[in-house]
Amino acid sequence: MSHTPTSKEQAQALKQFYSGNPPTIKHGFTFELTPEQTLSGLEFQANHACGLNSAGAIGGAATYQFTDTSLGQVQRVKCACGQSRDLTNYDEW
Ligand SMILES: [Zn+2]
Repeated sequence: MSHTPTSKEQAQALKQFYSGNPPTIKHGFTFELTPEQTLSGLEFQANHACGLNSAGAIGGAATYQFTDTSLGQVQRVKCACGQSRDLTNYDEW
């Protein structure tokens, strides 16, 4: 059986990856998070008190929201359990 990486393992791998220079990947339609926001999102996925963690099958199910407002863009990660973390860097508004 192959091993499915946990959010914690993914966060560690990404942390290592971003210790060098982060890549710039452009597509036609992009939503971007800084490496710090990405790590914060992965840490939320790995560490929040999630009622779904024991379910396994749904593990890692997270939705990233990018909401444009008149002041700036709100970025938020939401777990399937309903909890969420605001990743927005309001200092840059
Ligand atoms: Zn959860």
